Amino acid sequence: MAEMGICTTENPLPSPAFTNNLPEDTLHEEDWKHRPPYHIQTEKEFGPIKWKGSCQCGRITYVLKRAQPLNSKFCHCRGCQVMHGAPFQWAAIFHNEDISFTKGSSGLAFFSAGHNSQKHETPTKVSCDFCHTLIMDEGRNMCLLFPQSIRFQGSQNEQRKQLEAFKPSCHIFYEQRMFDFPDGTPKWSGMDGRSQLLDDSGQPIDQ
Ligand SMILES: [Zn+2]
Ligand SMILES: [Zn+2]
Repeated sequence: MAEMGICTTENPLPSPAFTNNLPEDTLHEEDWKHRPPYHIQTEKEFGPIKWKGSCQCGRITYVLKRAQPLNSKFCHCRGCQVMHGAPFQWAAIFHNEDISFTKGSSGLAFFSAGHNSQKHETPTKVSCDFCHTLIMDEGRNMCLLFPQSIRFQGSQNEQRKQLEAFKPSCHIFYEQRMFDFPDGTPKWSGMDGRSQLLDDSGQPIDQ
């Protein structure tokens, strides 16, 4: 992430996500459109829907079949701050197969910081090409979905209960934070498990 300022260039996913897959160059250029999450499926093929989401303008809609993400994190890296126009990024990790875009790849825009490209080259940022709502970061096998676009249902209290499943397990790149976050959740200076643990005010903790 250092050069490009986007944490996705430094493999933000658990490393097994990238280990047992075909190298990108062995795949036909358009093959990705026929794989999850872009492969258009019937409801029966996809399975029971747990969550639905959409961008701000509503042109992009997607469904999720996993009730709880594999993990959820707040990323405080500078790249996320700039791209998201927010003090930090909130990402929930799902397998690609857990997600299905209703209209496939149609209407989506891509930005790969690593390749400085708008072509679909993972890892890539995925957004609506009309309203530019950021939907997720896509890796080879996993997606880091931004849960803000999920349409949680019911009263504010009911929605807060649903959000429990998306509660972050840790903060990453906390060294680059804009504000302290005194929530008692583990904080890493860089990638989780591969950097220094920090306290809420950013002081190193003995490991
Ligand atoms: Zn980041
Ligand atoms: Zn949109």
